[in-house]
Amino acid sequence: MARRKLQRRSLQFASRAIHVGQEPEAATGAITVPIYQTSTFAQSAPGVHQGYDYSRTDNPTRTALQKALASLESAKDCLAFSSGMGAATTAMLLFKHGDHIVSSRDVYGGTYRLFRRVLQDFGLTFSFVETSNVKEIERVMTRHTRLVWIESPTNPLLRITDIRAAAEIAHRHGALCLVDNTFASPFFQRPLALGADFVLHSTTKYLAGHADVVGGAICLSDRSLYERLKFLQNAAGATPSPFDCFLTLRGIKTLALRMREHEKNATHIANFLKDHPRVRRVYYPGLPDHPGHEIAASQMDGFSGIVSFEVKRGLAEARRVLGRLKIFKIAESLGGVESLAELPAVMTHASIPKEERKRSGLDDGLIRLSVGVEDIDDLIFDLKSALKPQGR
Ligand SMILES: *Cc1c(COP(=O)(O)O)cnc(C)c1O
Repeated sequence: MARRKLQRRSLQFASRAIHVGQEPEAATGAITVPIYQTSTFAQSAPGVHQGYDYSRTDNPTRTALQKALASLESAKDCLAFSSGMGAATTAMLLFKHGDHIVSSRDVYGGTYRLFRRVLQDFGLTFSFVETSNVKEIERVMTRHTRLVWIESPTNPLLRITDIRAAAEIAHRHGALCLVDNTFASPFFQRPLALGADFVLHSTTKYLAGHADVVGGAICLSDRSLYERLKFLQNAAGATPSPFDCFLTLRGIKTLALRMREHEKNATHIANFLKDHPRVRRVYYPGLPDHPGHEIAASQMDGFSGIVSFEVKRGLAEARRVLGRLKIFKIAESLGGVESLAELPAVMTHASIPKEERKRSGLDDGLIRLSVGVEDIDDLIFDLKSALKPQGR
């Protein structure tokens, strides 16, 4: 009786990250999901197989990853992709010539590039608006709008969009709402529960968490949308390798532990930078004076591990600071155990024209930190040394 009760009780997040989709393998009892490094599967008769026929279509290691991810996003289904952009491109194949998409203005640079420099040529039209002000979304909705694409927190200014309100506006106009949840991870934010129709991840970041694999995913609970996307996943073929799925699954097991540490260190660093004389501004949704703090607190369980800040003297000083960091490595990407620093204007957001960067409030002296899980004293010492005036 007691055991039955235990089974019926649903597992908590940290346990689901370790167990869902990851039951011991039937043939040998292997505790860890094997890497099914195979392209094809033997059939007992033509068209008769055990659910797998070709690894672009489905692969058991990918199935395990998809089940785990779906569970973490409280979604019915998940589809894994070869990269976050592979996921984004495939999601956009849901739309066609003449469809209108509304997107957050300071969206991930690669997403912006996909929308502006690729998909616009296929006849999709885009409005980039400040979605942290949901009235802006309402203002540009048309009868052709099919999708509202939200990033929250945004990259790199960590602006917060009210996901409940954005989804409500999208639905009222007959459009779908997608949330790129890469920066928060499902540990801190579950957009489907807030009304979004699908959640997109670059699993490259927090989910895999160790800067050793590139991947993407889409989680959703609408069956017919899922069927269409699954068809597109197979048709377009941006699928992850079994080994990539294994690495991502391995990373996910410790997501809860890592996210707690990322947030703890980020909070400490945001408070340190806030009071530093050479820093003009700190962007971190966990700071009470962050413009999106209250909405963030209402829709997230924590504020994640990215901190951006502007140095007072612009690009030259920002370059100098980066050059002096020792533990923080200068690199694109984020969400791994190691701390990284980057200059969006020169690196991740260089493909956005300067004028447009300026309009969206992205200063050339902005530094984005992906705060890792190293010892906080070492990280603070590193930042303190790098921010010292020159020659001291
Ligand atoms: C990295 C990233 C992407 C793209 O993912 P890749 O795995 O690099 O293709 C999309 N959105 C956000 C917010 C990201 O940080």
